[in-house]
Amino acid sequence: MHAEDSPGHAERHDWRKEEVRSLFDSPFSDLIYQAQTVHRENFDPNQVQMSTLLSIKTGGCPEDCAYCPQSAHHDAGVEAERLMRVEAVLAEARRAKAAGATRYCMGAAWRAPKDHDLETVCRMSRACARWAWNPASRSAC
Ligand code: SF4
Repeated sequence: MHAEDSPGHAERHDWRKEEVRSLFDSPFSDLIYQAQTVHRENFDPNQVQMSTLLSIKTGGCPEDCAYCPQSAHHDAGVEAERLMRVEAVLAEARRAKAAGATRYCMGAAWRAPKDHDLETVCRMSRACARWAWNPASRSAC
């Protein structure tokens, strides 16, 4: 369940500039306290979701985002790699689940993936959902 779906959370779209500025000017500890208060109103405060993130296509991105080590424009020591194979991603998903992950995320360093790359990523997603997260299913991806 997302916080915005819960009855205790009132989503606002009428923020005034002074209110936003006062948030930016707030002491960090106060912000942590407010964030914890909202979190506790909406979620189990002591439950943590275990997630695993896998880079399925690392480095060599043609975009020039200055902060990002995946960009080919900056030498961050990241080797450019090709898109991982579906079977390898699936094996990592199974390993993540066995290690206790309840969410599996895939990240790719791309600016404009080609159609055939997106088709491969869709196959990966279906395979992970079907095989790793639902081992009772044995249909091919
Ligand atoms: S991977 Fe994403 S954030 Fe990084 S350079 Fe490419 S487009 Fe920018």
